[in-house]
Amino acid sequence: MFEKILIANRGEIALRILRACRELGIKTVTVHSEADRDAKYVKLSDESVCIGPAPSTQSYLNIPAVISAAEVTDAEAVHPGYGFLSENADFAERVQQSGFVFIGPRPETIRLMGDKVSAKHAMKEAGVPCVPGSEGALPDEPKEIIAIAKKIGYPIIIKAAGGGGGRGMRVVHTEAALITSVNMTKQEAQSAFGNPVVYMEKYLEKPRHVEFQILSDEHGNAVYLGERDCSLQRRHQKIIEEAPAPGLSQKIREKIGERCAEACRKINYRGAGTFEFLYENNEFYFIEMNTRLQVEHPVTEFITGIDIVQQQIKIACGEKLPFKQKDIVFKGHAIECRINAEDPYTFLPSPGKVTTFHMPGGPGVRVDTHTYAGYTVPSNYDSMIGKLITYGDTRDQAIARMRVALSEMVVEGIKTNIPLHNDLMADLAFNNGGVSIHYLEKKLGIQKK
Ligand code: ADP
Repeated sequence: MFEKILIANRGEIALRILRACRELGIKTVTVHSEADRDAKYVKLSDESVCIGPAPSTQSYLNIPAVISAAEVTDAEAVHPGYGFLSENADFAERVQQSGFVFIGPRPETIRLMGDKVSAKHAMKEAGVPCVPGSEGALPDEPKEIIAIAKKIGYPIIIKAAGGGGGRGMRVVHTEAALITSVNMTKQEAQSAFGNPVVYMEKYLEKPRHVEFQILSDEHGNAVYLGERDCSLQRRHQKIIEEAPAPGLSQKIREKIGERCAEACRKINYRGAGTFEFLYENNEFYFIEMNTRLQVEHPVTEFITGIDIVQQQIKIACGEKLPFKQKDIVFKGHAIECRINAEDPYTFLPSPGKVTTFHMPGGPGVRVDTHTYAGYTVPSNYDSMIGKLITYGDTRDQAIARMRVALSEMVVEGIKTNIPLHNDLMADLAFNNGGVSIHYLEKKLGIQKK
């Protein structure tokens, strides 16, 4: 096992990774910006290195600074967490070239999956069901584009091959708007992602977002850890996630899960990964693969009893997966609420000093957070200050525990989205389960009136 790991991230996920390392008896190095000097996980780590000023481009995204921190502290491996450099193939490559282990897939896998056109192609080849659409990149010739759209049928969505974070997409309802929309998306894709390639998909009107978690080792073993439903989103940002997906049969779980695991074996995938699907009318449509740990991994940990971060570390170390698919049992139900420092209804960020902070507890309650009373939420980063996760034998019990936990949680000094979570836990459609990805925005629209 590794002796020392460098954690190339911040916030709750830095603390989560640190805890996994400490449990495994691995020493930790944290890197931090000037704004995060006083963070809890920095104090808890064995060593820490300041890698630059507050803006992430000068610190958490600064590849040479992260690599030299690993060099000066003699770390053996680097865990990138999520966001920042976690899906940057050049970073993974630099980490390896500098003699460290990157805790994640090979750089070429990250590159393959980072380009949505090549990712979709690879998944189609591997037998994973995809959204009907263009065969790869759209041609330049308008006539050909029009013909492709006609064949797929409107509405369609134009997506940038290099897109991410919900950007670089445009829905088109009529042929009249098609060519202009394609050209605009191309221009945006070029300026935002440095890649003008776009492709076309059928636009699904009322899908749910259901994703499969997989683990794959270097010895050809791959398993799926079930699925998560992350349909409650605003501007493509997930707010609540749960596992399992309400109403999904064990038969279809096995079918899609096995396809994902098989795809991992085919592409020699290494580490943890997530296959994201849109799910509509009992059909799954692959949209993209995330080659890293996800924010919402704790709900899967609750229902499987598997520590995903520890498995990532063990896989990176060359170990074999300690279980087979038949050993993985899905039990109970888990829900995660992302706690953000923001206005619950306008979503404006609310950084600043947290004056009071009380965490909930009790059976089936997990809180992943680096926040404490006296902590100042910096304005430079994502507004998520923690995650509240509850578990129950049934979905109703997990929701009941979430209601109680939310009512116990006290955060003062800044605004948080806890009131929104309270509303959602009382929402009838959410309680029935299985709302579409548009549900939350529609509900919020109604509230604004
Ligand atoms: P990103 O990498 O930016 O997150 P995705 O391909 O995962 O991009 O798509 C983000 C979101 O956009 C999806 O969760 C869904 O809400 C919407 N979306 C993407 N493709 C489609 C589609 N074919 N039909 C309907 N909605 C889509």
